[in-house]
Amino acid sequence: MSLLAEVWFDIFSRICERCGGHCCYEAHPPLTEERIRRISASTDIGGRIEQNGYRRLRVREDGFCIILNHTRCLINAEKPETCRAGPFTFDIRNGKLEIYLKKESICPLVGHLKYYPEAYRHQYEHALCHLISLIKGLPPAELAEILKVDEPETEKVAEIPLQDLS
Ligand code: SF4
Ligand code: SF4
Repeated sequence: MSLLAEVWFDIFSRICERCGGHCCYEAHPPLTEERIRRISASTDIGGRIEQNGYRRLRVREDGFCIILNHTRCLINAEKPETCRAGPFTFDIRNGKLEIYLKKESICPLVGHLKYYPEAYRHQYEHALCHLISLIKGLPPAELAEILKVDEPETEKVAEIPLQDLS
């Protein structure tokens, strides 16, 4: 990780800690085979995964992700791609990968990203990289199920033709 990336990662982590993991509520992050393998190398998550059209992390009775411990993600170093990409998210329509940004009203990090263009660019590129990796790592049937999930309170910020994805 570059020095700049480390600085931004540290700042983002502190903002997220203060927020308390709002985006971990009803999150159900999807899991590729590779992600399950990487998380399982350090954490027993077998009983925390469910299949509901796609493999994903379960939530607790209070609605928060089963991996969240107070305000901390127990698998931070290996957390799923959609968690890494936040507050950016995605859809695929008409042969294009669409990138969305959550509204500031549901994610305090967004205001900081909009205020610091360099941080925005850094997190956008980071998110894009992880979202492409997720899309390529999922079986097509599971990806199709994920694309049915609505992401309210977001705005579209980019469109990339699928054939341009490296
Ligand atoms: S909602 Fe935004 S600020 Fe809060 S934990 Fe998630 S990414 Fe961080
Ligand atoms: S894996 Fe971690 S970051 Fe992702 S939703 Fe669960 S607790 Fe939150």
